[in-house]
Amino acid sequence: MRFPLALTLKIAGHITKQRLKRNPRFAMVLQLEPLHTCNLTCTGCGRIREYSTSLKDMVPIEKCLEAASDCDAPMVSICGGEPLIYPKIEELVAGLTDQGRIIYICTNGMFMRKKMRDYLTVHYSPEMESRLQQLVTEQLVTEKEAEAIRSADAAARQKVVIVPSQWMYWNVHLDGLEYTHDLIVEREGVFKECIAAIRMAKILGYQVATNTTIYKETDMAEIEQMFRYLSFLDVDGHTISPGYDYDAAKKDMVKRLGKDPKDFFLTRDLTREKFKNIEEWGKLFTLFGTPVYHRFLAGKQDLTCSAWAIPTFNVKGWKAPCYVMTDEKLGHFDRYQTMLDSVKWDNYGVVQGVARDPRCENCMMHCGYEPSGALSSRPLDTWLNLKFNFSARPKRVVEGGTVQAFNGFSMGKGHLAEAKSTVNKALAGARSVYQRNGDHDHAPSTAATGSNQREELLAKLRDNSRIEVKPE
Ligand code: SF4
Ligand code: SF4
Repeated sequence: MRFPLALTLKIAGHITKQRLKRNPRFAMVLQLEPLHTCNLTCTGCGRIREYSTSLKDMVPIEKCLEAASDCDAPMVSICGGEPLIYPKIEELVAGLTDQGRIIYICTNGMFMRKKMRDYLTVHYSPEMESRLQQLVTEQLVTEKEAEAIRSADAAARQKVVIVPSQWMYWNVHLDGLEYTHDLIVEREGVFKECIAAIRMAKILGYQVATNTTIYKETDMAEIEQMFRYLSFLDVDGHTISPGYDYDAAKKDMVKRLGKDPKDFFLTRDLTREKFKNIEEWGKLFTLFGTPVYHRFLAGKQDLTCSAWAIPTFNVKGWKAPCYVMTDEKLGHFDRYQTMLDSVKWDNYGVVQGVARDPRCENCMMHCGYEPSGALSSRPLDTWLNLKFNFSARPKRVVEGGTVQAFNGFSMGKGHLAEAKSTVNKALAGARSVYQRNGDHDHAPSTAATGSNQREELLAKLRDNSRIEVKPE
């Protein structure tokens, strides 16, 4: 089977239950944003811009768990901001696991290795020594860290940690190979750290997925190469979605980067062009999502928006109408059902080529249309979905190991074209400048690049937060 049977059955059971109740609208995936603080400032990220005035706020853990129960979605995607900065992330994952939910931790990867070292510290036993040795050999853990793990005292072993589970995925943000990804996240070394984290996660038995956003300048041949490489690394699945032109991200692009958003985000026509081979990719790689949504992206069939099925809960409440857009007239709601009852859902989406709301015109995002593909009752769609889910999982792409994934680190503000302007004389020769095929070491970084930064961010949050952030 393409996906774990237990997870498929859980989702199928949820849909059946809602249909038996004749519930026309219900939640499939909760996008839970416990905070909007992030250690990165990726180009095109609407989150850190739309919620820039509430970056220090956090949703208390009790509210996060209440939100999951409130909408009762079988899957919860913990996103943000960077969720691994959330001080109670371990307790949140444990609480959602107790509720029986499938959990995706959407992360930029920078703090993952720290969290997995915490797991090793708590669960270390002599039987794990060979894996710990492998991590040291592959420079994913230093000798010093390994020794600290072996000799941890009873107090250090009391911590709640994120354990490998069939119900949990690390969902790592990757928008291209090294050069491109570092450029988009506006920091060098991020791709290298992501790959180190993925490798460590697989050695320790975690499930790992990746999520990729496609922009106008994205080279789809490069994304295919990236999937080959990730298949070689035994990554369990991929989400891929077209970039949406968030108002806040557009404004940031004009103001901070002096760039025209039209050069960056996709129109509907461009989305169809970019995704024209996605059905082929579905045969080669373990793409998450349904073949019906993939056909929609490729322009082979129409779907209407079902934004109610992937609701978002954050510091302000239930965000209406959808993950990507906040309608000023609606704002945020206290309860999921209140949002369901209050929003005029037929005012959104694109139907037969006509946008019901101009802001929906270029949106083909999974948060609006993926559930439409999964919930479609057309016999052909049902057959396509069943065939896809019950078909064999695509084979590991062994030759993916030859992909030149580490093709030169880069750092710039803006996207690919902007990188050229980033190469300026003032930075020339410095180690942090935009480089291609640079002379850096391609082995995964041994430094826990994100750890200190996470502590600094937490310290700042403790100093400034309007809610109490307890020291870890
Ligand atoms: S890592 Fe995620 S939340 Fe942070 S800036 Fe990038 S896209 Fe936004
Ligand atoms: S079409 Fe896109 S922007 Fe419009 S409501 Fe649906 S998900 Fe939101």
